[in-house]
Amino acid sequence: MDLNEHINFICLDCKQGSKSGDTMEFNTSLLHGRTSKNDFGATQTPIYQVSAFAHDSAETLEKVFGNRAPGFSYSRIGNPTVDAFEKRMAALENGVGAVACSSGMAAVTMALLNILQAGDEVIAGAGLFGGTIDLFGDLAQFGITAKFADTVTAESVEALITDKTKAVFAELIGNPKLDVVDIKSVSEVCHKHGIPLIIDSTTATPYLIHPFEYGADIVVHSTSKYINGGGNSISGIIIDSGKFRFDSEKFPNFDSFRIFGKFAYIAKLRNGLWRNVGACVSPFNAYMNSVGIETLGLRMERICQNAKALAEFLQTKDGVTVNYPALGSSPYFPLVQSQFGGKGGGILTIRAGSKEKAFRLINSLKYALIATNIGDLRTLVIHPASTIYLHSDEKRREQAGVYDDTIRVSVGIEDINDLITDFDNAINA
Ligand SMILES: *Cc1c(COP(=O)(O)O)cnc(C)c1O
Repeated sequence: MDLNEHINFICLDCKQGSKSGDTMEFNTSLLHGRTSKNDFGATQTPIYQVSAFAHDSAETLEKVFGNRAPGFSYSRIGNPTVDAFEKRMAALENGVGAVACSSGMAAVTMALLNILQAGDEVIAGAGLFGGTIDLFGDLAQFGITAKFADTVTAESVEALITDKTKAVFAELIGNPKLDVVDIKSVSEVCHKHGIPLIIDSTTATPYLIHPFEYGADIVVHSTSKYINGGGNSISGIIIDSGKFRFDSEKFPNFDSFRIFGKFAYIAKLRNGLWRNVGACVSPFNAYMNSVGIETLGLRMERICQNAKALAEFLQTKDGVTVNYPALGSSPYFPLVQSQFGGKGGGILTIRAGSKEKAFRLINSLKYALIATNIGDLRTLVIHPASTIYLHSDEKRREQAGVYDDTIRVSVGIEDINDLITDFDNAINA
């Protein structure tokens, strides 16, 4: 069998379908970067809401099953609507392939377990999303140890590396700590020690940055958030740059996948744990995400403007302090300039002085909804200490930038004057 042929079926080659020679800008590429051909000229790949795909002969299905012919057999393993979404995400991040998952947490879990085995260590930021911190606790019972760096820097990571370290995992803009990782310097340390860098880019989005250009090896997104954009589907995705080489000494579990070259990571994932755990996304959710991606640029432009304006306004109010990476007062301001072109994303946090004051502020808001999500069109607020970090002890909480009086705000696309008035009234109340 021709290896190249095999790889294409497994990895759903990302270059296919893109218009070669074009140098499209961001918003244009979201609409025209990838157009899948289909029978009726439908402008989106339709929802193939089926479990299985019938074939003409037993021989054909045998080939499809063995990755020796293009096609689909069963939607846990592959589905045209999901495939279209994966290709768009791989193209958007300039990766060699992408695997969509049932949730962001499934994507984080699969991205790690595709590499790690019992006895291995992973280094992660202490300011991670609460679910990811909890996951590292769960992985301990399988013999995988997480070591936490207070902030992820080249120095803090290097100090924690041992010969058992097999991956470094960091959130590009920590949710909700809002610390920013210098990908270039951290990836250089990782690569010096032969370790891949996995970046959770959920809060940054491809609108702010393409982490592969700075040296990240694997990117995960909770696509439930900004990629979907409307708060209507739980899902996640893993995208591989294809650049990291899993050598046989450190990564013996890649032995039978090394023949796939730059597709080794995706091939192992697709043919192993991801398919056998059943972490697939539903075709309907993949479709909603494909619709959502097309307005990512427009939404993020507005969201970043709104977040900055709201943060600047909150800075002028007595009784509250505000944390937003694109404010001059943030220690991450220089990295926001150099990595994100000055844009700070859609999340800010406010400290209200006490839990009671934080609750009163939240309850007084008229437009901002009290909900545990980010990246919606609507502004959402939450008190993380009593919700997302309910299961973390105080030390872990504070390492994650969560205090008793912290409010997280996920800024939406409302008219900024309405948002400012809403927060102004709530603070004055
Ligand atoms: C929400 C989120 C996750 C988890 O995603 P789900 O889709 O809720 O499973 C992971 N990482 C970050 C940074 C998130 O914000």
